[in-house]
Amino acid sequence: MTALAGILQARIAATGPITMAQYMAECLLHPEHGYYSTRDPFGVAGDFTTAPEISQMFGEMIGLCLAQSWLDQGAPAAFTLAEIGPGRGTLMADILRATKAVPGFHAAASLLLVEASPVLRDVQRKTLAAYEVQWADELSALPDQPLWLVANEFIDALPVRQFQRDAHGWREVQVALKGGELSLGLSAAAPIALLQHRLADTRPGDIVEVCPAAAPVAEQVGAVIRDHGGAALFIDYGGWHSVGDTVQALRAHKMEDILASPGEADLTAHVDFETLALAAPCAHSVLTGQGVFLERLGITARAQCLATKLSGAALESHIAAHRRLTHPDEMGSLFKTLALYPDAGPPPPGFE
Ligand code: SAH
Repeated sequence: MTALAGILQARIAATGPITMAQYMAECLLHPEHGYYSTRDPFGVAGDFTTAPEISQMFGEMIGLCLAQSWLDQGAPAAFTLAEIGPGRGTLMADILRATKAVPGFHAAASLLLVEASPVLRDVQRKTLAAYEVQWADELSALPDQPLWLVANEFIDALPVRQFQRDAHGWREVQVALKGGELSLGLSAAAPIALLQHRLADTRPGDIVEVCPAAAPVAEQVGAVIRDHGGAALFIDYGGWHSVGDTVQALRAHKMEDILASPGEADLTAHVDFETLALAAPCAHSVLTGQGVFLERLGITARAQCLATKLSGAALESHIAAHRRLTHPDEMGSLFKTLALYPDAGPPPPGFE
């Protein structure tokens, strides 16, 4: 049993069941025992691998996309270059390397990283030691100036509530105790105003997920883009609507029961991009597969260029990384990209 399992059992015994969102929040960000609060989870030795950790090409394409969008909006002389949930800082380092040759881009950019984990802030500080970087806990720290922002696999780490439809309304999925152990249960049925619009496309027994923190992210980022210009790229796994129970636990690259080891496994849920699009007070792009997006930005030409300097095992792994990022059987279709941009347009390159 993990330390956090004991803490949660005592809390539930004292004050009753907690929601899935409360459970996820404790597992991910409990100050002492939370998954992100206590470790650097990425890579072969960790629990999962993300696109920027697979190949430098991912960050290079994102960098070119952001810089071209900045040029398309008249290259404002001062802007915020922000990332939410920057992990090891690899994506931002690749963005900065790829955009070094864009005249004026670095000079105009103030770097802002929104990161909750002190352990990962330390890793980011080392990765980005060559640059002047500010950290923030919250998006409310965004300055009043144009904003170019990226968030890769951030929204999937935000806690979701789960509701099961029943004949009389919705029952909320809860983490309760059964025989002293953590166990999933359901609240009493109640009408939920938030889910009124899902009555049309669900049937009794279906599960719907709601991510309460997602809409405020799109609202805050979108308001800065509406008022000052810029663009935001949200890249994650998911779809246009939330579909059933998608909460999963990953530990040492293997799926496990979400209640098995609280605080020791990564918990994520599919991203419902419709929530982000509807909440943003500015234009949003068509939801675009990661593979198509990267291909439009020229990843194949970049892959060929890098390949000329490689041979043997390094070349094999480079070819596999390109495939992994773009192929529909790998991350190409499962992962999607949504851009926010000013109503006057244009959308960033890579989107229609
Ligand atoms: N973008 C990185 C990391 C993705 S993992 C990559 O692609 O490799 C999720 C990241 O979001 C981690 O850096 C984690 O610490 C951070 N994070 C999770 N919840 C957060 C929150 N509520 N506020 C700020 N950062 C958070």
